[in-house]
Amino acid sequence: MLLRRLIVSLLAVLPLLVPVAAHAHVEKHPDPRWQFYTSDHHWYRSPWFGGQHQIMIGFGCNGSPWYDHSPACPGRQGFHHGIDVAMPCGTILRAGHRGTVLARSAPGTPGAAYGVNPFRIRIRTAGVRYDVLIAHTRTVYVKPGDHVRRGQLIARASDSGAPDGCHLHFEVRPHGGGYTTAIDPRRWLQLRLA
Ligand SMILES: [Zn+2]
Repeated sequence: MLLRRLIVSLLAVLPLLVPVAAHAHVEKHPDPRWQFYTSDHHWYRSPWFGGQHQIMIGFGCNGSPWYDHSPACPGRQGFHHGIDVAMPCGTILRAGHRGTVLARSAPGTPGAAYGVNPFRIRIRTAGVRYDVLIAHTRTVYVKPGDHVRRGQLIARASDSGAPDGCHLHFEVRPHGGGYTTAIDPRRWLQLRLA
């Protein structure tokens, strides 16, 4: 009886002893809906999210089926106004820069394609104001008017409004601009190789 109990205890701790480094980059729960439309297969960290993840769709023209054809893009390609980072549902999102949460009704209100609970953080850098749009979230921990500090927990990744699974849509617009004014948000996302 004692021996059996000992064996059961050993089996319980065995997984803790197996090295995990060989597959450290493999998502524990890859979303079966994810489809990657970029040749960049690196894994990245960012002050805006927990863990390490891959870019699913980059900024600009791309061949995914999710966007209407844009005259600015070759062939049938559409234009993506942000960067999509694939991450499991519930992944924590943090403020990568201090700023102020905008009212939903402020100029440039995100449309339904951004999900039920998108929000914008107005940041000021080098004297210029930009609005960072965080989309496809359901659970959001900040409210309009809140001043957020860098590193603060702001939301969790979800799939609200996203046919291609849970991910962070990260978009940057000049102060008060609509989606057509979005600029390449990469420098604000502060990606670094994992
Ligand atoms: Zn997107």
